[in-house]
Amino acid sequence: MTALQAITFDLDDTLWDNHGVMLRTEEGHYAWLLEALGMWRATRQEAPLSLGYEAGLQDYLERRQQFAKDVPERRGDFTWLRLRALEAQLEAEGLPRSAAILWAAAAMNEFHRLRIQVTPHPEAAGLLAALSERYQLAAITNGNIHLKRQPLAAYFPVAIAAGELLAPKPDHTPFLTALAKLDVAPEHAMHVGDSWAEDILPAQQLGMHAVWVSSDDDQLLPPRVHRIAHIKDLPAILERLNS
Ligand SMILES: [Mg+2]
Repeated sequence: MTALQAITFDLDDTLWDNHGVMLRTEEGHYAWLLEALGMWRATRQEAPLSLGYEAGLQDYLERRQQFAKDVPERRGDFTWLRLRALEAQLEAEGLPRSAAILWAAAAMNEFHRLRIQVTPHPEAAGLLAALSERYQLAAITNGNIHLKRQPLAAYFPVAIAAGELLAPKPDHTPFLTALAKLDVAPEHAMHVGDSWAEDILPAQQLGMHAVWVSSDDDQLLPPRVHRIAHIKDLPAILERLNS
């Protein structure tokens, strides 16, 4: 094959398992908000919130879904959706707009503090360190993790938050943006990710090589697409391609 110069990585469920962290983050930042806001109101002798945890969390989700429908260009910008939904919810609770904005922002601070607590696969740092000696590396994520606070960020001089570009994968924009920043043609680049629809198909359509991190071995693989069960198997694929 043509010599590979760059490798782009999806993050969530590729370099770490995301499920547990997302659950803890989702529940944790909202519980924090209700508790902190409840205490603040108590010190001001204001009535307790009428919002309960379960109903409040459900209402928060529905408000995000509604905002994503109403403002489709923002559908992948999860931080924006969360802020707007929390602000609207708190205003509906009777908070003045200025207070609603401040509390929503504080809750999202807590969200990002919890969200960053991912545990990369133990092989990830060593793998990226070795690859960075030979290839240019980039991250392309639809998620809203603050990568700058993640130690693995050191290996990604180029990091694309696709939601904030208002073009979440499978849109081609985040891939093309990464390739432009790396100054590499698609055929000299490879994308590694766990989502068939959001990672593998768009990369393949653009002419990139792609490595699908999946245990599904029923899927027929188009040209330039490879499958591995775990990120630690990536070097074997690269060795085969380069030989
Ligand atoms: Mg993923």
